[in-house]
Amino acid sequence: MIHRPKFNDPKSKITIHTTLGWDTTIEEWFGPKGKGRVAGSLWVSWTKNFLIRGRCFWDADFRASGSWIWRRLAKLRSLARPFVFCTVVSGRNSLFWHDNWTGLGPLIDIIGDTGPRTTGIGLLSSFSEAAIDGVWSIPRGGNQRVELLRSCLQSHSPPTSDFGDDLFSWKISLDDSQGTFSSRKTWRHLQPLEPYVPWHSQVWFKENIPKLTFVTWLTVKDRLTTRDRLRRWNLPVPASCLLCPTRDESRDHLFFQCTFSNTLWSDFFAHLVPLPPSNFSGFMNWIKNPTTNRRLNVICKLVFHALIYNLWKERNGRLHGSSNRSENQIQREIQLQLRRRLAVLDKAKSNNSTTRLQESYLSLWFGNFQVH
Ligand SMILES: [Zn+2]
Repeated sequence: MIHRPKFNDPKSKITIHTTLGWDTTIEEWFGPKGKGRVAGSLWVSWTKNFLIRGRCFWDADFRASGSWIWRRLAKLRSLARPFVFCTVVSGRNSLFWHDNWTGLGPLIDIIGDTGPRTTGIGLLSSFSEAAIDGVWSIPRGGNQRVELLRSCLQSHSPPTSDFGDDLFSWKISLDDSQGTFSSRKTWRHLQPLEPYVPWHSQVWFKENIPKLTFVTWLTVKDRLTTRDRLRRWNLPVPASCLLCPTRDESRDHLFFQCTFSNTLWSDFFAHLVPLPPSNFSGFMNWIKNPTTNRRLNVICKLVFHALIYNLWKERNGRLHGSSNRSENQIQREIQLQLRRRLAVLDKAKSNNSTTRLQESYLSLWFGNFQVH
């Protein structure tokens, strides 16, 4: 049995139009035609001068700038980022912290937001600016983040040539030798093209919120860079959980066994009988069909996705020193996030005569999930 959403399903947030937008971006903006970040088509020059304006493309806030299609592309940056790889030639037009040239992902995500300040390598430094006379410009000493950066760089040398632009390619995986963008291949990679997997309907369902679903999908596949995985790659990171100080971080601990996460799960699912299992595999079985009410099941899955997304976001915020929210603050954020989505679902259903008489998503929410 194969589950494969249609390639250009108009109901999906990621249609061929947006993937083709990324095609243009990679080919013309990052790629050889665009000569790195310098020039290329009129569109490339225009976006560089009027929209990006010297900021980092991956992090800048574009919500109030550019056309509708530009904002759509910007919204998909987190989805596209893992696919964009950089092969360094002269190191002049790749960003040391933001471009994925090590194969481990952007260094800023591994070392954290304080990395530039700790190491003295500026946030927007190019790859070549991070080295002096062929030696990495990293301070001596035993600072934890500096040591981690040193480990990430150990199999990479600074550039030796002043000539040639760095090359950007779109790769589905590290061993993808072609490096060219394919809408179809990317689509199939983002939408699982595997024989039936037992968690398919728990992750991919039409009422989902894409950015939440993406993180949930990575979680289910155990692809997040949790500390146990980083340590398996021999990176010298501490083992401890960032949400509670007492246990080591792994996927199963972070999302289910951690006392911090546990409080949130129990609060949201307190009205359901029986209560959901508190271990990952048990929960995945349970969430497939938790009640006999289809709409209630949709809300349960949305709560599941929102908890995973927000716990991971908080964990990263604490790693980078930019967040230290309490369980209550996260709870309130999830409630707002989901009520907004449920209101949209109710509005869509109210136009449909067969579903109009069913209890609304929002009334089910307030009857079963709202935490006061
Ligand atoms: Zn913990």
